[in-house]
Amino acid sequence: MLAVIMTDIRSRNISKQMKQNFIILLSLLLSLTTNAQDKIPKISGTAKFSVENGTIECDIILSDYSQISNYLIRLNKGMNIVNIQSVEPNEFLLGYKRELSDSLQTYESVSYYFPADVKGQKFLPKKLRFRYVGKFPVINDTISENYQKADWRGNIAFMNGLLRMDGYQSAWFPTLYDIDNDFQYELVKYDIELICEDCEQIYINGSKPINAKRGHFVSESPREPYIFIGKYDIQEAENITLLNANFTKNQVAEFDKINGKVVDFLSSYTNIPYLEKVHWVQAYLTANEKGYFAFASNPTFTLCGNPPSDLKATFDKQLEGGFLLTLAHELSHYYFGTIKNCNTTLENLLDEGFAEFMSLKFAESIGMEQKVKESLKSSLEYVEDEDFKFKPIGEISSLADINDRETYGYDYQPLILFSIEKEIGKEKMKQWIRLLLKSDTPTSDKDFMKSTLREVIGNEKDYSKVINKFFHGEHTVKNISETLKLL
Ligand SMILES: [Zn+2]
Repeated sequence: MLAVIMTDIRSRNISKQMKQNFIILLSLLLSLTTNAQDKIPKISGTAKFSVENGTIECDIILSDYSQISNYLIRLNKGMNIVNIQSVEPNEFLLGYKRELSDSLQTYESVSYYFPADVKGQKFLPKKLRFRYVGKFPVINDTISENYQKADWRGNIAFMNGLLRMDGYQSAWFPTLYDIDNDFQYELVKYDIELICEDCEQIYINGSKPINAKRGHFVSESPREPYIFIGKYDIQEAENITLLNANFTKNQVAEFDKINGKVVDFLSSYTNIPYLEKVHWVQAYLTANEKGYFAFASNPTFTLCGNPPSDLKATFDKQLEGGFLLTLAHELSHYYFGTIKNCNTTLENLLDEGFAEFMSLKFAESIGMEQKVKESLKSSLEYVEDEDFKFKPIGEISSLADINDRETYGYDYQPLILFSIEKEIGKEKMKQWIRLLLKSDTPTSDKDFMKSTLREVIGNEKDYSKVINKFFHGEHTVKNISETLKLL
């Protein structure tokens, strides 16, 4: 699906270039014939850190990407650029501009581009070198005044002698963004040296964590280059690797068992084996808040929370239910998020609904039906709130169509999915999910969602009923409430 879009972009790109340079055209044509598939960018070079000082110094080469005419390169706004260099086809320092209107949803990044000689056009060399430095707040506790108002996934978080930095929102490395297709290339190959003289452990997603102050890491398969470094212990079990969890031996075994259970359920529900070894990271919250949040950088899952809301809460009977659902939700992103890679910000949002649905299905499978019912009930309260503005799944086309991402992804969509399941039956629902996962077509493609649903329902009248009740119109919330009968 993506390859098709990219071909389209490339041919438009070529017609522009034709007037300018025949040789560039030739090389582009060559790359077209040798690369039917969309290319995966690669980052190489060095990144130096100090967890005590909160500093980052990078010398990163970005290469192997497709020629995109309408692009931006996102970089964390805390990074100061020393210079940007064209490495290929020619070596020279580049002049750059910033596009102030572009941002990730959480405003961590600044977007750069290189203006071409022709006014209004952009220039993208074949290979780029970025040198930049940043200094970030170091949080050592949340008792004194030294903490942040909020913490979130894209935060470059230096805390308690550790650095937690995601590869999707933080934009710690030059992250290529295709504007026309709303596609960010955060999944990259890497060949990188990580150096941290005041660390003892280094981990980058897709490689094994090591006990060292520096390491050379290589990944030929696309990964979100999430980084977790500092001083922490590494614990290994059959299904999982734990970073900074500080579990007892029994807890490691218990947590491994829980993960195994979730993974077994997801594999059998989707009929797609879970092939990765899961890495769980215990990070902290830089804000003085109760609770926690978690995020997936497959196959690494990070829990940001301070005691008692840390990974050990898994073993706390009172917290068990909620924590188990978080765990299952994150692991579900292996399917909706990795097997099915997110193409757009909208798909990313829709995948939240499926991950949440899958985690609740897991809960049902282990006898937590009551917990599932309570969860759906409270979701219904959120979506029935008259302040919640949304467009049904068949009509939503951008994030601007809703006013509350959380409620849409974690409440509205799971309710819609459970309602559809109630109408068509559990077996057909499972078949639908399997069909969705089988294809490369994004979940945000409404025709694809509908055609797969039509296929599993196999009856035009029932199909139309489901579509009319839950995909379109103003009464989807009322229809959910009548279908699920949660009260
Ligand atoms: Zn999620």
